[in-house]
Amino acid sequence: MRTLIVSDIHSNLDALDAVLADAISNGGIDGVWCLGDIVGYGPEPMACLERLWGLGALSIMGNHDGGAVGLVSLATFNPAAKAASLWTAGQLTEEARRYLEGLPQTLTEGPFTLAHGTPSDPMWEYLTSYSQAEAALGVIGTSALLVGHSHLPFVCQEGLRMELGAAHGQRIAVDGLRLAINPGSVGQPRDGDPRAAYAVYDDITATVELRRVAYDVSLTQRKMADAGLPESLINRLSVGH
Ligand code: ZN
Repeated sequence: MRTLIVSDIHSNLDALDAVLADAISNGGIDGVWCLGDIVGYGPEPMACLERLWGLGALSIMGNHDGGAVGLVSLATFNPAAKAASLWTAGQLTEEARRYLEGLPQTLTEGPFTLAHGTPSDPMWEYLTSYSQAEAALGVIGTSALLVGHSHLPFVCQEGLRMELGAAHGQRIAVDGLRLAINPGSVGQPRDGDPRAAYAVYDDITATVELRRVAYDVSLTQRKMADAGLPESLINRLSVGH
């Protein structure tokens, strides 16, 4: 079974569809795990939700998902994020609101615990250091951990240093290993590479493959401009930062 692992889609349907096409043509997928922040920042929140529903994806809640439905305070969001969150709230159907409100903060699937930020602070903590990864691995009941939130792909194996960044096509053996992995962001990469980032877990080979795929950034930017979303959010997609 091959499971697509996506995080931080952020209402970017063009990026999500590029990821789906790439994953399907590169061995196919049997399921989808989403690590949160389905919505926020981007121009097509409902279309992204409907895509995930159509795929029967399992998802956890990110701070932007909670923010769009009033479960997470927007007080700590920067002005652009807050403006996008309020715009997003106006786009959601009642069904979408109920879905986002009902998302769990963590899940366990196979050898993985899934958390948006960290297992102990899923909404807010950015996991970006080895010591944080070690602490997070210490509180979970599975051997490995999948996180999002920072939009920065990394692989960290307990006992070894954290590798920030991930090469396209990089494969990681997960068989029983104590690992923390961030697949990077589908819809708003922040590692200087504007291509959408994602991963695929294959439970037969017991590997996670990290991948990047280009999408039509200018198309997404035009949709954001048409929606009146903040210019800073539009511009950052070009540079992946
Ligand atoms: Zn995010």
